[in-house]
Amino acid sequence: MSLMVDPFLLLILSSPSGAGKTTLTRKLQDRFPAVRFSVSHTTRKPRPNEVDGKDYHFVTRDQFDELVGRDAFVEWAEVHGNCYGTSRAEIERARSEPGVAGMIFDIDYQGARQIRAKIPDVVSVFILPPSMIELERRLRGRGSESEEILQRRFQAAIDEIEHYGFFDYLVVNDDVETAFKHLEGVVLAERSRRTRRAELAERLLRAGKL
Ligand code: ADP
Ligand code: 5GP
Repeated sequence: MSLMVDPFLLLILSSPSGAGKTTLTRKLQDRFPAVRFSVSHTTRKPRPNEVDGKDYHFVTRDQFDELVGRDAFVEWAEVHGNCYGTSRAEIERARSEPGVAGMIFDIDYQGARQIRAKIPDVVSVFILPPSMIELERRLRGRGSESEEILQRRFQAAIDEIEHYGFFDYLVVNDDVETAFKHLEGVVLAERSRRTRRAELAERLLRAGKL
């Protein structure tokens, strides 16, 4: 029997709206159940199927500003006219909980840049659509938004893609299973990074000296 625990990994998953981040995040959670999903705070109104505390912590603008004032966020940004932030408490809770092997952040490039500045060993992945035509088709296929919002999201997608340089990995979501394999590969490779396994190597050396 092995008592080996997977090293703790902080993984940012970002993409232009419609590229498939939600789909791929769900698959990642099924594959790596010990990796927690970070629940952000937002001033956006909940969509019909969203649950407070599970999808987001839904707060008012005043509550959000109060949290910013208390330095409660490790990062926060305005996206599509609403405020979104990742609380420090969310990461600390995951780090202190036994058996939790990391955290996935579904945040935009502004948040990715801020987290990386504070936590340098964070790993960031940007999901790309195979083409802009396919991106538009997927955005329309979701059918949950008005034409005006759709056009705004499409323009915002171009702005997001312009910032691909902030990310460590680019995963193309053409065929979903292939994209998932690449994403899974990133997680497995990053778990084996020397810095994440150094503690074990040092422990083995100490045991060998007894
Ligand atoms: P995001 O979270 O990035 O906005 P979603 O995961 O909600 O994107 O995907 C947007 C739409 O595209 C959804 O209807 C989803 O089922 C579909 N989709 C996701 N990945 C693929 C893919 N590889 N091929 C075809 N359709 C996809
Ligand atoms: P949505 O409103 O569709 O759930 O999310 C809109 C955008 O906000 C997505 O690009 C998502 O990644 C981003 N987002 C969600 N939570 C956070 C967060 O805590 N911080 C930042 N910077 N962006 C976030």
